[in-house]
Amino acid sequence: METPLAVAPASLSRPLVDSYARRVDYIRISVTDRCDFRCVYCMSENMNFLPKQDLLTLEELERLSAAFVVRGVRKIRLTGGEPLVRRNVMQLFHGLSRLFDKGLEELTLTTNGSQLVRYAAELAACGVRRVNVSLDTLKPEKFRAITRWGDLGQVLAGIDAAQQAGLKVKINCVALKGENEDEFLPLVEWAHGRGADVSFIEAMPLGEDAVHNIESFLPLDAVTAALSQRLTLTPSTHVSGGPARYFDVAETGGRVGLITPLSQHFCDSCNRVRVTCTGTLYTCLGQEDKTDLRAPLRAARDDEALHAALDDAMRRKPRGHDFVAQWAGALAPAKRPMSMTGG
Ligand code: SAM
Ligand code: SF4
Repeated sequence: METPLAVAPASLSRPLVDSYARRVDYIRISVTDRCDFRCVYCMSENMNFLPKQDLLTLEELERLSAAFVVRGVRKIRLTGGEPLVRRNVMQLFHGLSRLFDKGLEELTLTTNGSQLVRYAAELAACGVRRVNVSLDTLKPEKFRAITRWGDLGQVLAGIDAAQQAGLKVKINCVALKGENEDEFLPLVEWAHGRGADVSFIEAMPLGEDAVHNIESFLPLDAVTAALSQRLTLTPSTHVSGGPARYFDVAETGGRVGLITPLSQHFCDSCNRVRVTCTGTLYTCLGQEDKTDLRAPLRAARDDEALHAALDDAMRRKPRGHDFVAQWAGALAPAKRPMSMTGG
């Protein structure tokens, strides 16, 4: 297939720097709002999904990604919804793998793991080296209760397939008050036992289920307290380019990450922006400010209008999110769910 990458004039290869001097070199692209699960903190059971014609085509997603790489983006994470349920998504991975020759250093994805048995080997062949798999519990019934539609066995088989294909797996676990508090330690021991690191995430007040998330909110001190009962955690020097703080675990040799948007701001070092499957750019996960990239993308074959839109968005990138005020009820939560911007 012919690459949709238009050749950019040198003047367009200026880096993406916002008005707080933060350089953006990481994009997360939600390739679909659809999902085969309905996690309670992310989606309602009866979701209305976007009409297919609103979505960027796979070719447009590739062209957009190429434009970001021209502007110095070095890491692309595909997410969703569930990225691996987008029809022909592997065509996109193959297309993006060509950007390794243009400066891209890392191509990765966040997935619920349900389709990894089918795709793990092909992902590895496309240059994907690491994959984040979301897993909040190792109990089949609890897994079904949290994901509503998910099957734990299928996800565990997917994790096996990923590791067999040589992909490094990281487990993402949302810490949920009253739901998986008793599993933090077993989950870490299980994951580290098979060479996978674990990151815990605070439930964020996003989307229609924001109230549920606020009720489920558990500060991650609860995680460190539970783990410290049996494990020795030492602050790690590891940095992932993401917002997590890491701890090395002496007993297992593994690593635990804590992603704490509410109890600890990570905005000062924010290096990322997010694009939805309709081509809307959000420069902050917790703010409503957005920029349409679909119109400039479709307006012309060259990317000049697109780059101008990126410059404009960077000037407006907010200093930080307002999750704390939203949690306290002082501000309304952002209306879009995590499945729109992909976490
Ligand atoms: N479907 C994929 C998955 O579940 O990994 C990718 C998309 S999902 C929206 C990305 C991450 O966001 C998952 O790890 C999920 O647990 C997390 N997430 C979803 N809603 C959240 C919320 N309200 N607060 C915190 N994390 C959330
Ligand atoms: Fe789907 Fe991921 Fe949201 Fe769960 S967290 S409903 S798997 S998009």
